[in-house]
Amino acid sequence: MSRTAIIGAGPCGLAQLHAFEQARLDGADVGEVVCFEKQSDWGGLWNYTWRTGLDAHGDPVHGSMYRYLWSNGPKECLEFADYPFDEHFGGPIPSFPPREVLFDYIVGRAKKSNVRQFIHFDTAVRDITFDDDSQAFEVTVESYDDRRLRTEAFDHVIVATGHFSTPNVPEYPGFEHFPGRILHSHDFRDAVEFAGKDLLILGSSYSAEDIALQSRKYGARSVTISYRTTPMGFGWPEGISEVPALQHLQGRTAHFADGTGRSVDAIILCTGYQHHFPFIDPELRLSTTNNLYPERLYKGVVWTANPKLMYLGMQDQYYTFNMFDAQAFLARDVVLGRVEVPDREVMDADIGDWRARYADVAGVMDQIDFQTDYVRDLMTMTDYPAFDIDLVRRHFVDWEHDKDASITGYRDRCFASPCTGTVGPAPHTTWWDELDDSLARFLHH
Ligand code: FAD
Ligand code: NAP
Ligand code: MG
Repeated sequence: MSRTAIIGAGPCGLAQLHAFEQARLDGADVGEVVCFEKQSDWGGLWNYTWRTGLDAHGDPVHGSMYRYLWSNGPKECLEFADYPFDEHFGGPIPSFPPREVLFDYIVGRAKKSNVRQFIHFDTAVRDITFDDDSQAFEVTVESYDDRRLRTEAFDHVIVATGHFSTPNVPEYPGFEHFPGRILHSHDFRDAVEFAGKDLLILGSSYSAEDIALQSRKYGARSVTISYRTTPMGFGWPEGISEVPALQHLQGRTAHFADGTGRSVDAIILCTGYQHHFPFIDPELRLSTTNNLYPERLYKGVVWTANPKLMYLGMQDQYYTFNMFDAQAFLARDVVLGRVEVPDREVMDADIGDWRARYADVAGVMDQIDFQTDYVRDLMTMTDYPAFDIDLVRRHFVDWEHDKDASITGYRDRCFASPCTGTVGPAPHTTWWDELDDSLARFLHH
């Protein structure tokens, strides 16, 4: 019997388990499918933890999500094509749910397809190698229960461990003498900690944007965002401003490239993450910056040097859950032999074509089109149910315009489902005024 290992039970790993279950329901022999998850529960980043640093077992904490995190894109852009929001919530809900609501949705489909039985929780994957003689992977896992290592053979391995958990932490002159807290966004949990403080945030992407906004929303006295390359340029609310690159600190005073300075109480490095997979043999290990088309992955999924190894969700992400599904259906069909993997040269040429096109991508609208076409391409390869991807593309474009129109108001907008057509109602409370991020408050008021 063929054996497949899935590493991680976040949105990607759960998409993979779900994909296999769909095939099994259709009568396919999917062999044995086993998922290893180092945490005690499923949901990946969406499974909130208050912990930072090391977990209870001495491993790095996976979670990078924080309290008061609302979806930063319309939920209609990530809807599972085979499990609409309407089905899960029994009716329309607004377009920008808080974390707990999306966690509930992810888990809802996983429960429906009954995949929890395949997951070994509290089990960390420590090593993955490929044995040329047996043509199988040797996967070494450690169970936290007894702290024993065991090694099992698998015909296929699907890596679904995410890539927003190992922080990229730069250092600037003067950090070592700064008389306040310096933390990375990976360790940010509760904005209330910074109420009344003057904050410095480094970075100009989603974490910088959202942590700046919510820190101010929950009471920071001022937030200064320092960009390295380009400012985000949104119409920030009073109390938030953007300045050029940080040069150095002198005591509490941060000095910027335009010669200005600002006294700050704490510094949050929203400087992104590393693809960091120490548990994979270097020969098999994906190494890439955070971009929309990593090298060496055919169709963004199949490891060209050994197509029995696949990776999910390794791209930078406009699309999330529906893209993960499309990838998982492809990975499944590679395992089942329904999709034939072409020769190495053909795969390399295909990757080359995509990356050449990616090199010409300039700006967010191009990026949206690029990833839309990538997902569209994936959808031609499997039986993942169709959804109105042109509508999703238009939603992303509208969303970008909404953010430019009002960075504090864009989460109050409504979008139509690409699966059911249902239009999300307006939220009962505007996002900027809503301090309670609970599911109960969002759904039932
Ligand atoms: P993850 O969710 O990271 O899950 C990976 C799983 O693998 C984890 O459960 C982890 O414990 C497990 N694992 C890792 N290593 C091992 C190991 N060695 N052995 C066993 N198990 C292991 N996306 C959106 O669509 N909307 C949002 O609003 C949004 N907000 C975000 C906010 C933040 C702060 C961050 C960091 C990301 C956000 N994302 C958002 C993007 C996010 O990447 C995806 O939504 C999604 O969580 C990715 O799923 P994944 O399964 O690839 O990875
Ligand atoms: P990211 O998108 O990879 O951005 C990293 C940022 O760090 C870039 O702006 C980069 O600047 C900057 N940077 C890197 N090194 C630096 C240095 N030495 N000095 C100064 N700046 C430096 O990472 P992210 O913003 O953490 O986002 C990660 C994921 O989390 C995304 O998928 C996002 O959607 C998600 N997220 C969602 C929410 C939400 O509200 N739901 C909130 C946060 C994050 P350059 O441009 O100069 O390279
Ligand atoms: Mg996963």
